[in-house]
Parts: sequence; C-alpha cells; structure tokens
Amino acid sequence: MKPVIALVGRPNVGKSTLFNRLTRSRDALVADLPGLTRDRHYGEGRIGERPFLVVDTGGFEPVAKEGIMHEMAKQTKQAVAEADVVVFLVDGRQGLTPHDKTITDFLRKSGRPVMLVVNKAEGMKYTTVTADFYELGLGDPYVISAAHGDGVHDLVNEALDQVKQPAEEEPEAPQQRGIKLAIVGRPNVGKSTLVNALLGEERVIAFDMPGTTRDSIEIPFERDGKHYTLIDTAGIRRRGKVFEAIEKFSVVKTLQSISEANVVLLLLDAQQDISEQDAHIAGFILESGRALVVGVNKWDGLTKDRRDEIKMDIERKLNFLSFAKYHFISALKSTGIGPLMKSVDSAYAAAMIKLSTPRLTRALEEAVEHQQPRRKGSIRPKMRYAHQGGQNPPIVVIHGNALEAIDDNYKRYLEKHFRETFSLVGTPLRIELRSGK
Ligand code: GDP
Ligand code: GDP
Repeated sequence: MKPVIALVGRPNVGKSTLFNRLTRSRDALVADLPGLTRDRHYGEGRIGERPFLVVDTGGFEPVAKEGIMHEMAKQTKQAVAEADVVVFLVDGRQGLTPHDKTITDFLRKSGRPVMLVVNKAEGMKYTTVTADFYELGLGDPYVISAAHGDGVHDLVNEALDQVKQPAEEEPEAPQQRGIKLAIVGRPNVGKSTLVNALLGEERVIAFDMPGTTRDSIEIPFERDGKHYTLIDTAGIRRRGKVFEAIEKFSVVKTLQSISEANVVLLLLDAQQDISEQDAHIAGFILESGRALVVGVNKWDGLTKDRRDEIKMDIERKLNFLSFAKYHFISALKSTGIGPLMKSVDSAYAAAMIKLSTPRLTRALEEAVEHQQPRRKGSIRPKMRYAHQGGQNPPIVVIHGNALEAIDDNYKRYLEKHFRETFSLVGTPLRIELRSGK
C-alpha cells in the first residue's frame, strides 16, 4: 500500500504549491484529454523509488457548523484520519497566527503523526524563520520553500521514514494470486452487491470488517477456473473517537485500491446521470495507468429511453475512457457478470502483453509511412526505433532525434496505431519519446 501524506494548514500557506510540486512529475505522463476531469486534491508522487499518495486538504475552518466551510472541515477530518503522516504547513513570512494554534489542537486529537513545516523560508535563516513556531509544541520545525523546491525532497523522505511498516510482510505466492482486481465507484453504485455476486454472502461480511491494521485486504477467489484477488484497504475506522464519523466511501481508499490492482472495475449507476465524482474516479484510473473495465450497473428494469440517455451521457462525459470495454449489468440480478469477467481477463492480457523491439519498430515504421509527424519550424522529428519500457500499462519507448517537436496529436495518433496493430483493448498505452543527440 502506498503511504498517504496529508497536507494541512490554513489558507495561503502554500499547500497547493507543495501539492503541485509533489505530483507534477506524474502529470506529464497523461496528455490532457478532452473531458478528463482531474481532482487536484488527490495525487500520486514519487521520490526516487518511493511512491506515495498526497492529499491537499484545501482550507480549514474547524468551527463552522454548516455550509461549505463545514463541508471542507469534514473532508479535512477524513483526510487526516486516513493519512499515515500529516504535513502541517505554516507560513514563515507571516509567522504564527491563532489559526495555527487551533489547527494544532485539532491535529493533536487526531493522534496521527504530525510534521510541522515552515514554508516560504527561501533566503531566511533557520533560527529566524522557525522561532515563532516552537510554541506549538510540535518539536523542531522543518523548513522548506514549496515555490523553489528547497527542502522538499528531504521533507518527503523524512515523512516516509515515519510511516510504520507492516510488522511482517505477507508471504507472496505469485502464481496463486491471479489477477488483482479493484472494484471502485461512488457510493451506492452497487459495489458491495457486485462483490456479493462474485464471492457469495459470507465472504462479503469478512470483506466489510474493519481490519486491525491498515494493510490491504486481499480476498482470493476463483471463477470459471480462473484466479483473482479482490483488493480493498481497511483500518481507517479504528482511529480514535473524534474520527469515528468517517464515511463509508473514501477517496484515499479508492486511490490505494486502484494503484494496487492490475485491473480496475469501474462501476457506474445507470439510474443516475454521470456525476463529477464518477468523472474524478475515472480520471484517477486513467492517471494510474491500470487496465479498466466499466460496468454500467442497475441495468434491470430500465426503459429504452433511459438506456439510450445514460449511454449518451457516458459517451459525452467519459469519452477519455474509450479504450475500455463497457458492460451493462445487474449486480442485483446477477446478469451480465460472465462477459464482464471475460473482459477483465482480456484487459489483463492486454496490459501484460510483451512486445519485441522488431515488432514495435515495424509498427512504428508503418505508422510513420502512413502519416509523418509535422515539422516544427525547420525541425523534423526523426523516429528510429521503439522498444517496450513496461507493462500494466504497456509503455512504448520511441527513440530518435528532435522528438520534442512531436505534438500531443501525433502522440495520440501513434497510440491509436499501436493499439490497433496489437489489438489492445482495456488498457491504456503510454508513449514515451526519447531523443538522442
Ligand atoms: P494554499 O492556500 O495553502 O494552497 O496556498 P497556495 O499554494 O495557493 O499559496 C499561497 C501563496 O503563497 C501563493 O501566492 C504562492 O505563490 C505563495 N507561495 C507558496 N509557496 C511559497 C514559497 O515557498 N515561497 C514564497 N515566497 N511564496 C510561496
Ligand atoms: P455500494 O455503496 O457501491 O457498495 O452500493 P451497494 O452494493 O450497497 O448498493 C446500493 C443500492 O443499490 C442497494 O440498495 C442495492 O440493492 C442497489 N443495487 C445494487 N445493484 C443493483 C442492481 O443491479 N439493480 C438494482 N435495481 N439495484 C441495485
């Protein structure tokens, strides 16, 4: 499971600046696609070999009883409860404010590990910029400049060092585990009902039990002679009285499940229109690079008009998921599940495909023969060969000269060409360009 770092602090201390810095490297992997909705509050980052999830809690107004501020405080609470480490940002230029003290009290009650971090410290002496903040009783502050990047690398390493490792690693039994499957979707789309249909009643009760650790819960099951492992995470319900009101649906949990899976099954509710939340979850899946199958659930008892309507709504709002197979199912009546699971198998096969350099290079040559990349000024990009740089998702690395002149449109054209050539359905495909001298 990837550790979760939550960024907390009053408005304007630099949370989103830090968030962007931590997640930026990943953004470059996904070209901006029409309709793609990103949630700028949740993201994945990596420092060296260490991946993590980061949550920007936005504003913080713990006293508000209702309205948008109350809603935000609720989100913040949930993010803090789910975090492995809380990075508490304060503003080194403004110094200590009463609001910082309120937040400190709140964080103390949460029982989560907290790192006090003084931001905007560029060009200032450690003792000067931190002097104010010892009063908070959170120990020696870290100092960073989120805008310039100073100290950020060390901060994250330090944060990740604080994350408790699970006492003992589960023994791995790679051949037995089969396809790792995450079933995700917003509340009430029918996830538990589908898990029920796949596993049978008793297993689901176990699935829903709060775990005693925050390790993932992995439930192996077999269907038509094939092995799967269902992924879920647990352990967030157990953390101190203040935080009991955690909702059943958790974005962090969803993200963790997605990043642990080989194949993600995204459930939508055919009785409702596609919502922002659906689009955000879909955006996460796309960014993660996992294979995907979409189940449009509650297909039972819909009128023909409604069926047409929801199909159009999906096409309009989730068109960036066109690489995936859609299935119209009823988890409740257990219809359509067989074909759905067949698509899970084929999405997995596509995601794990192995492509040799000669095959890829031939496909690349065909693509270029059919359509050359455009010149950029006097520069003509020259692609020489392609090799596979990874699986799940398959990554095609193209080598050549002046490849930075290739635009997103042409990259999409290449992606489509590779996808068709190798019949890749159900997995994203990434193109990386590497220029020589
Ligand atoms: P948030 O409300 O906590 O998310 O804060 P933002 O990330 O939006 O930053 C608030 C303001 O502080 C913006 O104008 C940023 O450019 C600025 N800022 C953020 N980090 C730094 C920093 O390290 N140094 C300086 N001087 N300004 C910063
Ligand atoms: P979750 O929050 O995503 O786990 O959703 P649940 O599995 O708890 O289902 C939410 C509600 O939708 C329950 O009342 C289910 O009985 C209902 N439901 C789930 N699947 C179907 C379906 O295929 N058809 C219909 N009509 N209702 C369903």
